[in-house]
Amino acid sequence: MNRLLAIGLLTLTASGSWALAPEISPLPVPRGAVEAVLAAAEQTGTAEKEPPAAAPEAEEDAEFIACLDDLRELGVEAETVDPVADADMACGIARPVRISTAGAGVAVSPDAVMRCATARALGRWVNEFLLPASRLLPVRGALTRIDHGSAYICRRRNNAPDGKLSEHSFGNAVDVMAFHFAEGPPIPVQPREREGTPAEAFQDAARSTACLTFTTVLGPGSDEAHADHLHLDIRERRGGFRLCQ
Ligand SMILES: [Zn+2]
Repeated sequence: MNRLLAIGLLTLTASGSWALAPEISPLPVPRGAVEAVLAAAEQTGTAEKEPPAAAPEAEEDAEFIACLDDLRELGVEAETVDPVADADMACGIARPVRISTAGAGVAVSPDAVMRCATARALGRWVNEFLLPASRLLPVRGALTRIDHGSAYICRRRNNAPDGKLSEHSFGNAVDVMAFHFAEGPPIPVQPREREGTPAEAFQDAARSTACLTFTTVLGPGSDEAHADHLHLDIRERRGGFRLCQ
């Protein structure tokens, strides 16, 4: 980086110290337009926000241990399991965990294999948002279980025969299908536009808060492939960009 550019990126913080300014200023993007923009950019080879999909490197010991500590604090029951990989594709997780809960008293069904950082994002979402929100629901009582459709699985995006590997292939993603409660009926993820029910309010709250702990949230209405679940992943993009629809 040349000196002038370096100076241009420095900003004075409120505390009076100098800090690096973000390299990319966030611009408002119309809802629904993001994927089209990214897809067009990918086709012309100019996509900057989407680096090529590749399995993340193994976490360093300290990072991994800190993450496992976070899971314990969040009430996420996790066991470390052997690395998973696929010989034919670039799928795999170097240091996977298998989780059976996503918070105290909140089961994950069935047990799910993912990266520790994905489990942590799930645990934070459940603890910070879903559990408190569930207590505000009439009739149902606290959240007790989350059903998922898939966590780690070696496949391409939207199960297409070719194209990019899904974030599921790297242990970065989980598909949430339904929420269960201490009493009362479960809330399956489904199209609920203007339903006017507590279930709709809960699903909407779950969906919007998920984007505070994950970086990708796709659900009913984003496209046909996501009509019956919330796809949540922790894919890292340039500038910290999040894709939440
Ligand atoms: Zn998914």
